[in-house]
Amino acid sequence: MLDVLRRIVQEVNSARTLEAALSTMVRRIRKAMRTDVCSFYLFDVNQQRLVLNDTIGLHSRAVGQVSLRLGEGLVGLVGQREEPLNLEDAPSHPLFRYFEETGEERYSSFLGVPIIHQRRMLGVLVVQQQDKRRFDEGDEAFLVTMAAQLAGVLAHALATGGLSRTNRGDGQAMFTGVATSPGMVIGEALVIAPPADLDNVPDLIPTDVDYEIQRLKQAIYRVRDEIRAAGERLASRISAQELALFEVYQEMLSEAALGQEVEKRIREGQWAPGALADVVRRHVQYLERVDDNYLRERAADIRDLGRRVLAHLQEETPQTPDTFAERTVLVGDEISVATLGEVPRDKLAGLVSVRGSSTSHVAIIARAMDIPAVLGMVDLPLPRLNGAKVVLDGHRGRLFVRPSADIESHYRSLIAEEDALSAVLEHEQDLPSETPDGYAMPLMVNTGLAVDAVASLKPRISGVGLYRTEVPFMITERFPGEQEQVRLYRDQLESFAPLPVVMRTLDIGGDKDLPYFPIDEANPFLGWRGIRVTLDHPEVLMVQLRAMLKASEGLDNLQVLLPMVTNVDEVDDALRLLDRALQEIAEEGVSVPRPKVGVMLEVPATLYQLAPLAERVDFFSVGSNDLTQYLLAVDRNNPRVAELYDACHPAVLAALDRLAKDSAALQMPVSLCGELAGDPAGALLLMGMGFDALSMNAPSLPRVRAAIRRVPLAAAQTLVSETLALESPAKVRAHLATRLGEWQLAHLLPPRD
Ligand code: PEP
Ligand code: MG
Repeated sequence: MLDVLRRIVQEVNSARTLEAALSTMVRRIRKAMRTDVCSFYLFDVNQQRLVLNDTIGLHSRAVGQVSLRLGEGLVGLVGQREEPLNLEDAPSHPLFRYFEETGEERYSSFLGVPIIHQRRMLGVLVVQQQDKRRFDEGDEAFLVTMAAQLAGVLAHALATGGLSRTNRGDGQAMFTGVATSPGMVIGEALVIAPPADLDNVPDLIPTDVDYEIQRLKQAIYRVRDEIRAAGERLASRISAQELALFEVYQEMLSEAALGQEVEKRIREGQWAPGALADVVRRHVQYLERVDDNYLRERAADIRDLGRRVLAHLQEETPQTPDTFAERTVLVGDEISVATLGEVPRDKLAGLVSVRGSSTSHVAIIARAMDIPAVLGMVDLPLPRLNGAKVVLDGHRGRLFVRPSADIESHYRSLIAEEDALSAVLEHEQDLPSETPDGYAMPLMVNTGLAVDAVASLKPRISGVGLYRTEVPFMITERFPGEQEQVRLYRDQLESFAPLPVVMRTLDIGGDKDLPYFPIDEANPFLGWRGIRVTLDHPEVLMVQLRAMLKASEGLDNLQVLLPMVTNVDEVDDALRLLDRALQEIAEEGVSVPRPKVGVMLEVPATLYQLAPLAERVDFFSVGSNDLTQYLLAVDRNNPRVAELYDACHPAVLAALDRLAKDSAALQMPVSLCGELAGDPAGALLLMGMGFDALSMNAPSLPRVRAAIRRVPLAAAQTLVSETLALESPAKVRAHLATRLGEWQLAHLLPPRD
């Protein structure tokens, strides 16, 4: 059963148009359930009606003609109640409505199930049977499971189909996701192709066998060409024995080998990608079982060749080009920090991805780079976007593909307004970050990328509150050596000296993987992360600490921050390593004072251990991004729960307020370096709570400074007590918006419709 479900979902998923997806869906369900009829009624949001969209069993002339209001007829009842309805004798139900054009009077049993995606009813699936058959529990369970699985696929197909449909009209389509990095841009989409995946090729019956064979041959021909070229390029650099492997690959791809087998499979009734995946799978399984190292290695080769051929078969999805549009909007399933590097910085104007959410690390980097980003755009039809003109709205989480002239000119004026506001805010950037009643609120910046170390920032800030050392580690191909790290850190420390620079020890794990140190875990955010990793690898941590210390020689502005601390023992262990590093470098003749050390408060347990932590270190720095995710049990990276992720949740604010007061009582300086500090309303709250410094991405400084310069400390303190009395995140946000409005600061909040 599971197998049938999986196959249907795969087939629907790979359909190229909405129509094909729906048609596949009803046909395959009817077959699997052995019923007389299977129909799908699509919910038309504009008309608020369920329209018969596809059927197998009812008269096809009824398609598009028959429609029902919610609550009207049995289908309308399913749509309204959003519950399955299973009837043995449908015509006797008081709500039964008969439409002559369907010819459904003959059918007695009825089973209808709603298809719901993210709380939204997309339509109703119905199966019907002529004889009185009470669909049993198994049938009902099957259809409910099918509907739940198809919901996401259908939502995607609707979006995709919507695109192809409107292409015939004005060509415009709009997609929504999680607004991640503010700003708006009109640019050109560049789709980064995910690697071809042989394990996820659906089975499809080819409509044109000759065409499938022809495109297979072409794909193989191209791969042979690539391999020949690669062999030639490497000829002078590798041994004759290794070079001979290229011959083996050519052989494997020859007509007589792989090519012929795949062709045979196509003739048996598989489309080219499916046939290729079948043949590769069979060979790989066989080779992996044999007891011969040489042959086992060939299994990996075959898989690799298969992937290359598949990539050409799927070549609707393009590769990274050599030249880039002036304003390139990078679009991908998932965008890694490394992918960002594929587009020249001056051309990279926006980011869009299917996965990810607003505090995922690529999001943080987008904000640091000051480019708009929308992540978690789950319904995005990737292959069709490449090269398309797009409008990206990072405030509202929208992407317009092939925008109409109206949309484009509307956005041109919004962008002009935003530029004007930035110019106004820029004027006060050199003024102190001080409230009207004279309270100085130190502002710091978060860094990690080379572009962050801008000299113009220095007079405007009190230092670097968080230097994420893992960012440079993410763009290298191995752990950087000690000397390399000394250079990197020296650069940071020198650029900002004499201001303090808080350098965080490597914080990998969670969603921050290093390509050369992959961590594969079921629950990465609860797993091997931050200090848990580096204490298990003291050789990595020692190199880093030594490099930081050496880099600070003569500057003395280094502070060290420990991420993801859970226990005081971890702090003790890290401090021991720090002392050892100090001693080692002293023996090498480098003498530096012991830097101040801080602990990140981001694991909720630490909030209950402030006193013992305070005995060990010099300052606290709150990682509100992680603290929020762990307090709310909401993955910061998962678009499905992005709406639940909110640092303005009353529980998070109460925890922050408490910890600020507790830290003050312990006389421990406490700053906050999560994204909340860069939100003008969040910054006012944190100031009111008594945080000693706020550290944020440089592009957030102007708005935060503008807010601080207009709100007296006492007003911010009142705002805190008012807010803490509210009971839901929505009420908190609404209250903050009201107060900022009263203070004439509404323009500092993200624009909404
Ligand atoms: C945080 O968790 O708030 C933080 C600043 O660290 P990161 O976002 O790098 O996990
Ligand atoms: Mg963190």
